[in-house]
Amino acid sequence: MRQIPSIEQLRQRPKMQALEAEFGRSPLIDALRAEADALRSRVASGEHAPDDVAESIEQALPARLTALALPSLQPVINATGVILHTNLGRAPLARAAVERVAALAAYSNLEYDLDTGARGRRDVHAERLLCRLTGAEAAVVVNNNAAATLLTLAALAAGREVIVSRGELVEIGGGFRVPDVMAQSGAILREVGTTNRTRAADYAAAISDRTAALLRVHPSNFRVEGFTERPAAEDLTALGQRFKVPVIEDIGSGWIAPGPLPAPLGDEPTPRASLAAGVDLVLFSGDKLLGGPQAGIIAGRGDLIGTIRRHPLMRAMRVDKMTYAALEATLQEYAAGRAAQTVPVARMLSADLEDIRRRARALVDGLDNNVLGQLIDGVSTLGGGSAPGSALPTVLIAASHTTLSATELENRLRHSDPHVVGRIQDQRVVLDLRTVLPDQDERLLLVLNGV
Ligand SMILES: *Cc1c(COP(=O)(O)O)cnc(C)c1O
Repeated sequence: MRQIPSIEQLRQRPKMQALEAEFGRSPLIDALRAEADALRSRVASGEHAPDDVAESIEQALPARLTALALPSLQPVINATGVILHTNLGRAPLARAAVERVAALAAYSNLEYDLDTGARGRRDVHAERLLCRLTGAEAAVVVNNNAAATLLTLAALAAGREVIVSRGELVEIGGGFRVPDVMAQSGAILREVGTTNRTRAADYAAAISDRTAALLRVHPSNFRVEGFTERPAAEDLTALGQRFKVPVIEDIGSGWIAPGPLPAPLGDEPTPRASLAAGVDLVLFSGDKLLGGPQAGIIAGRGDLIGTIRRHPLMRAMRVDKMTYAALEATLQEYAAGRAAQTVPVARMLSADLEDIRRRARALVDGLDNNVLGQLIDGVSTLGGGSAPGSALPTVLIAASHTTLSATELENRLRHSDPHVVGRIQDQRVVLDLRTVLPDQDERLLLVLNGV
């Protein structure tokens, strides 16, 4: 044991100096200690000490330091077939958005008026495009849709009542529960109707001089079937106009492309349809069906958006230049009519089954090691709180391994470089290329041939 040089002696070796320059002093010292301890315990348990102890420690160090320096946020190939997988970061960004983020990573006119050379406003970015695409008078962007809901209620309804159907007091996941968000905003929840049936008359009977707004929430991650009733947005907006109370609709996901809805979306609400029905403010996410960065968008009446912009919480929920850059570039793809080809979420949604089959076939044909693949029919899903129950027919690669079990293979894929996330179905690992970006097919094949 006495052969192990001191940490300080090890640190002075030329190779260690190079590693210190790359990884930093404190990580190097930690890694040296850990490596020396590991060697000590190996020798204590009967292993022969290496001839050159310092050399042996030195050799093990780069791998240990690299592993320690690895960022915790890692890229993943999503082969689950769940398009908006919240655990995997929801929407993958369009190339145009990625390029715009890189272009705006340095200085920008985030809060600077280039015409006057004076201070400008941050909260106006993306507004013009959002108004064009939704038909809104005004729009403002915050951190996510949960923030949009909290801020809207705080600005327009604190201390007063907001009427919500009992069928819409939903939990979206990750701690977003409508009654809890309402309580945090300072607004008072006034529940009406029942879990399965609420009528416009229930709202009408609850309206009083304490009412600040009617809130409509899209039950975006579940479906109630059977003896159900829910007033149309038009019925609520007619009431709102009669009693002069704004109607706010949280639609969750925001499919923003002009034209008819793609079939898998069913009757998913859209910002444009909601505003056309007379809703005063519509709230939706930037990273669900819109296919952009994490953001919450509030669009609708100019006077209400003005009140929201002036609320102190706006400062706490404002977004960064990176978000504006990615959002504006994504919206521009929709405005230019190219999104079905260029925005990954839109492209995956309408991906041609034969195209998925052709890619899957090519991948299976390229397997030349331990993994065997077979094409089977399956379903992809939207996920992320959009169009619950939607199922898109797809072609799956059912993969098995010559020696590993399905669980072991799934685990290996998850730990490979790049990480591949699939699913287990009937003792096989299934991979759905619908959610794999086409330029990742080759890397996926390399991973499969490497396990
Ligand atoms: C997803 C969702 C939210 C939360 O949106 P985030 O952008 O994830 O904060 C709120 N309301 C509804 C109806 C949703 O579907």
